[in-house]
Amino acid sequence: MTEVSTDTPMIRLSAVDKYFGALHVLRDIDLEVPRGQVVVVLGPSGSGKSTLCRVINRLEPVDSGSIALDGVPLPAEGRALAELRADVGMVFQQFNLFAHKSILDNVTLGPIKVRKSGKAAARDEAMQLLERVGIADQADKYPAQLSGGQQQRAAIARALAMRPKVMLFDEPTSALDPEMVNEVLDVMTGLAADGMTMLVVSHEMGFARRAAHRVLFMADGEVAEDSVPEDFFQAPATDRAKDFLGKIL
Ligand code: ADP
Ligand code: MG
Repeated sequence: MTEVSTDTPMIRLSAVDKYFGALHVLRDIDLEVPRGQVVVVLGPSGSGKSTLCRVINRLEPVDSGSIALDGVPLPAEGRALAELRADVGMVFQQFNLFAHKSILDNVTLGPIKVRKSGKAAARDEAMQLLERVGIADQADKYPAQLSGGQQQRAAIARALAMRPKVMLFDEPTSALDPEMVNEVLDVMTGLAADGMTMLVVSHEMGFARRAAHRVLFMADGEVAEDSVPEDFFQAPATDRAKDFLGKIL
């Protein structure tokens, strides 16, 4: 496991509150994720895990508090926000690939449109990324021609093509058939070993034990536990976490 550095945190949330109408979904969240740290987020359905991811890349605005990426505060609006969002790669449960574009075009689109890469350079880099996730041979196919595991690996390559500083994964293996879960987790484990800063919402204990530096347990919009994986899985501190682990293990 790579060392985590101690300089400016890559992700910092200070006193973040988020409401959906009257529902208080994130409650006074303070969180610092150092560069290179791999954080696994778990907790019951509805506890705010997806919302946490979505506020970090500003798919959702916060109601109060502040968020900074690599020391740069997330602004409310405008071009700077688009640039900062490009620093955050996101991988969803549903792969969200463009159905009418080839796998290669899915990966090159962002670099060409947003990063203004030249086509040849974008293509070379995309092929390297597809190689890295093990599906270079699928480059000219369309998403529907790939298995779920291959599509999710393509989605990871697409996110990496933007050269993000942070990768957020929201239940990346939940929609996969069981035999395809490991091929995606293996790619994620490789990214973690390469030093990527990652926030991973997942209940995959094997991945958490193997790759995570830290586990956050969320309940009712709060970070109820924040510990290292060994401690969390062996001796959760709260009754809510004990109850939760009892249901999923
Ligand atoms: P988790 O990912 O932990 O299951 P979410 O962050 O998706 O939880 O949701 C937290 C709470 O916020 C849930 O009660 C959910 O129903 C609610 N919620 C999420 N998104 C919205 C939305 N866009 N509008 C209204 N309520 C929402
Ligand atoms: Mg969710």
